[in-house]
Amino acid sequence: MIAVIKTIKLSGLLFIFLMIAAVLSAAVFLLFAENYGFLPLFTFTNSEMPLLVIDPGHGGADGGAVSLTGTYESEINLEIALKMAALCQLCGTDFIMTRDSEDISYPESAKSIASKKKYDQKQRVELINSTANAVLISIHQNCYPHASPHGPQSFYSVNDASSNLSVLIQNSMNFSLCPENRRIATPVDKSVYLFKNITCPAALIECGFISNPEESKLLDKDSYRLKIAMALTCAYLQYLDE
Ligand SMILES: [Zn+2]
Repeated sequence: MIAVIKTIKLSGLLFIFLMIAAVLSAAVFLLFAENYGFLPLFTFTNSEMPLLVIDPGHGGADGGAVSLTGTYESEINLEIALKMAALCQLCGTDFIMTRDSEDISYPESAKSIASKKKYDQKQRVELINSTANAVLISIHQNCYPHASPHGPQSFYSVNDASSNLSVLIQNSMNFSLCPENRRIATPVDKSVYLFKNITCPAALIECGFISNPEESKLLDKDSYRLKIAMALTCAYLQYLDE
């Protein structure tokens, strides 16, 4: 039995390793393609497979939290999401995005930041709920009053598919970003509007703490953002495989 468990653990790690190798190759191509500007980033679908919805948290009038280095969370979320989209495109994986820029258009009636945020969240809920076979990965950054907490954290909607996805993401991020991280996938807070109003498999990812000095600096780096995008993409490919 122990041998069987070890084999399962090893094959899981081997899968993550192979996925990282595959996505790393794609990432090298991506960096090359980005430098030479021939890789268009847009919605990409080609089958009736599950459709990944990449959701860069916040945006528009809602910048989210601000990092110790002065970067808005919305900007970090978007950069990771765009890299993830490019990796999915290279891997031939279906996806759509809830936003692909920092600009969001609001109706005249939405005057305050709160009403703009409410309008935007409703639009995202509508998009996700009207997407057949949607699987949501919502990208955020964590913030805490004290500087010491660090490390990625994955949250999930309360259903089996969501917790499977969230556990794979947590394992992938711990393996490739923060091996000493002891955080485990956890149910998302019931007050999160987006997650309260959708039923598809869904994970909310806090990629790191922008309130931690070291992690805040890392999250400003393009290479670290690519590493996060790779960890998320690997986990999603493993989710599709399972
Ligand atoms: Zn956030």
